[in-house]
Amino acid sequence: MLKDDLAKLLKLQEKDSQILDQETEAGDIPEKLKERQDILKAKQEALHVIKKMAEDAAKEKKLLELDVDSKNQAIKKLSGQLNDVKTNKEYSALQQEINHAKEDVLKGEEAIIEKLMLDDDIKLKLTKGSEEVKAEEAKLKAEEEKLKAEGKQLEEAVKTEKAEREVLASAVEDKKLLARYEQIRANAGNGVAAIAVVNHSCGGCGTMLRPQETIEIHKFTHIVECEDCGRIFCG
Ligand SMILES: [Zn+2]
Repeated sequence: MLKDDLAKLLKLQEKDSQILDQETEAGDIPEKLKERQDILKAKQEALHVIKKMAEDAAKEKKLLELDVDSKNQAIKKLSGQLNDVKTNKEYSALQQEINHAKEDVLKGEEAIIEKLMLDDDIKLKLTKGSEEVKAEEAKLKAEEEKLKAEGKQLEEAVKTEKAEREVLASAVEDKKLLARYEQIRANAGNGVAAIAVVNHSCGGCGTMLRPQETIEIHKFTHIVECEDCGRIFCG
């Protein structure tokens, strides 16, 4: 009887929609994982920038230290020469040179202190950045395990449900009706081909039905498809 077949079709539809939902959910897993991976990548890149800053700062500090060292040696050398000069003019010129070098040393030492303060700041950022990367790595690992388990679970559920849908499908006696259902389902955007009348409207597209149409549908003498969306009315 058509009425029975349509009722079976509605059950089959329910199962097919469930399968589609689960397949969609399983399909979303790689993207979810990628979102987490991208977050980790961004944190790793930020940490890399800080590390580079730390390296550059260390290099600059080293250069400043070398400069101060060489200036100090020059001062020592010039100071030694003070005893050997013959004229006042030479003496004051040398003294001036020493004073210049001393000023440079002072400036260099100030710059080193500045770098040291900056160093502390970078070190703090480095610690914070490393901790964030570690935390994100742990999150990713947990998420990977969770999603892997979810994926496996969905895969198994879909397998079982597909077997169940085969039983439901074979129970539909009118094979032409079944073929029509499959055809509509393949073309329908959301995989829905069998629907019921809901509040005097098509349960698929919401189009209001004429009273006569509703009566026709509920006579179950022939298959009625929605004039708008083409889906099969099952009751
Ligand atoms: Zn419709």
